[in-house]
Amino acid sequence: MTEIDDADRSALKAAGLRVTEQRLAVLRALDGSPHASSDEVHARVVEVLPRTALQAVYVVLAALTGAGLVRRIEPAGSPARYEKRLGDNHHHVVCTVCGSVSDVDCVVGHAPCLTPSNDAGYVVQTAEVTFWGLCPRCAAGDDEAVDETADALADEPEVVVAR
Ligand SMILES: [Zn+2]
Ligand SMILES: [Zn+2]
Repeated sequence: MTEIDDADRSALKAAGLRVTEQRLAVLRALDGSPHASSDEVHARVVEVLPRTALQAVYVVLAALTGAGLVRRIEPAGSPARYEKRLGDNHHHVVCTVCGSVSDVDCVVGHAPCLTPSNDAGYVVQTAEVTFWGLCPRCAAGDDEAVDETADALADEPEVVVAR
């Protein structure tokens, strides 16, 4: 058993979730592939648990997201993506051409990092910031990268997962 497994086990227990092989496999998949879509997580999970259905991965991701162990991000026009990096109020930069996602540290260092000019009486806790632009590959005009990812995105099934 690796140290990562130990940390994941403790995190599951602390969140009141039963430790299962599937949940550990999903958390491990997100370690190796941050901002993965549910399909990408599934592809990694079946490497270790070959009989895992995509539906089971949706259920696990929903449970982990609900327990606050995983963050779900949903850039406009992109399938939902999942990551383990939590609690640091970081933001994302998304490529408008190929849809790749990278982390960007919080602009200010604490939440909320934007102050609305009028909060309408709400107590504002966070601001969700998505930066849009061209990733280095697309900016360099690497057409092959674009084609590959466009194909991958076209294969993405339309699935609604409860938050
Ligand atoms: Zn790109
Ligand atoms: Zn991130």
